[in-house]
Amino acid sequence: MHFLQRPADAPAELERLQNERPYGPWDASIPRQEIKVALQVMQGSHCAYCERTVGSDGHIEHFRRRADHPELTFDWHNLFYSCSNPNSCGKFKDLRAKRPVPYLNLIDPCHDDPEDYFDFLSDGNIVPKANLSSSQKQKALTTIATFNLQSLRHEREQYIAAWIGLMGNQEALRASLERMKASSFSTALFHLFGMRRSM
Ligand SMILES: [Zn+2]
Repeated sequence: MHFLQRPADAPAELERLQNERPYGPWDASIPRQEIKVALQVMQGSHCAYCERTVGSDGHIEHFRRRADHPELTFDWHNLFYSCSNPNSCGKFKDLRAKRPVPYLNLIDPCHDDPEDYFDFLSDGNIVPKANLSSSQKQKALTTIATFNLQSLRHEREQYIAAWIGLMGNQEALRASLERMKASSFSTALFHLFGMRRSM
């Protein structure tokens, strides 16, 4: 998870729906493709939470669930593009995370910089940074649990190892910052070399 700069302007069709019927319904008439493309541009075609590369199989995710906050159904600032893995990210939060979802204790990657809260380790783990206050630490842990980000530890570890193998050594990898940014799990790769993703 890393900071995402949300474009100020919502997709035109989304804004129209927000003005016409802010409480939904979120039905078959929704211009999903236009919204998806806008979110994919913002997120570089990665899941907002786990950072895996996600194609057309992802889904438009309501950070605050429609069931909990119907008034935010078409709110541009409430939408992300998430992978559809049932064991993590948006699907896990909506179906299997603790109820009620502790929204005020969740990191929103467009509001908070996740790299102020997390260290991504070379063994695939995500841990709260060492210098956090107790409330910040709680927010980091709640976010990891709500999106079940630790469930992807092995996948991250394998990915990091593959990158090291591919590039040969750390110096060569440092020369490939742009390639790293475009990769799955990009924040984990940056932290591996003691760098912030959102430079
Ligand atoms: Zn994901």
